[in-house]
Amino acid sequence: MNSDRCIKCGSCLRACPVLGDARGALFPGPRATGVDAPRFPERADAGPSALMCTMCHACELACPSSITLTKAMLRLRSELKGQGPSGHLRMRENVMATGRTVSADFDEWVEEGNDILYFPGCIGLGRLTSMTRAASSLLTSLDIKHDISSRALCCGSPLLKVGALEEAANVKRSNMEVLSAYRKVVVSCPGCAYQLRTEYGLEAKHMVEVLRDLPLRSRAEGRWALQMPCHLKRGLGPWTAEDLVGILERAGVELVRIPEEDVCCGGGGGLPSGFPELAASMARSKVRAYERAGVDGVITACPFCCLNLRREGLRVLDISEAVSLNE
Ligand code: SF4
Ligand code: SF4
Repeated sequence: MNSDRCIKCGSCLRACPVLGDARGALFPGPRATGVDAPRFPERADAGPSALMCTMCHACELACPSSITLTKAMLRLRSELKGQGPSGHLRMRENVMATGRTVSADFDEWVEEGNDILYFPGCIGLGRLTSMTRAASSLLTSLDIKHDISSRALCCGSPLLKVGALEEAANVKRSNMEVLSAYRKVVVSCPGCAYQLRTEYGLEAKHMVEVLRDLPLRSRAEGRWALQMPCHLKRGLGPWTAEDLVGILERAGVELVRIPEEDVCCGGGGGLPSGFPELAASMARSKVRAYERAGVDGVITACPFCCLNLRREGLRVLDISEAVSLNE
């Protein structure tokens, strides 16, 4: 643990979008959870308010001492031993009962023995089935034959985010029986991609990594802003953010870049299930920024961003809905 390198500069506090939101006033902040809690465990018991973090990594990026603040946050969560808000407990129960955080509303499974698996994730199967269909159609049009397996369960990333280590290990065991049969896994969710790479050791590619060099054209009429997913740019790596911009620009999307595009929308880290009012408040701040920019809508590459911003009435497209093959 590198928390003893803290110079108390406050950069992490200024970067934190939760502390910047009026509904986040109870959150102790990244320094208390990432630096003070590991060093002074007797002061660490902030209760469930310590879970009011979206895992956006903005604090880590701002920290001049390169302190791994989100790792410390994950450790703190795993030590809470089920003390979380009721929404987190419900999510854990859903996974134990069905294998997914939300029930699947998608049944167009493709189980043909292809060597590539498209993995839509729990939100893609349960809440954003149009995105899942668009992604699968786009892959097919690009001659990327793929399965969509009914036996692939939650990747476990949301479980780790709420400290449910045992449940995450269980879904990983079940998933490995299915996923290890494939040469490559293609995913729409940057959180799933990160999880499948780091926790499973699989070759998992996010859609932007698949689409980056392919001939595509825009399906998005009008002027569009970006919602840059935290777990893409600050999770998978900054080059994936450049890929996303490059794909859209080459496809001919009229992009309007605004400084707020990088700010977390509040959709990650289990915030919408655990602290829905805070997640909604953060999304509304973003919607106001996009409205000021006068755009027709927003393009992103993360189901959690899509869902959280759509709930506040914003027109949001996933990358797979924004482009098609340029024939
Ligand atoms: S990861 Fe994001 S939300 Fe969590 S403490 Fe850091 S800046 Fe705040
Ligand atoms: S940014 Fe890093 S060094 Fe500065 S207060 Fe936060 S944890 Fe400490």
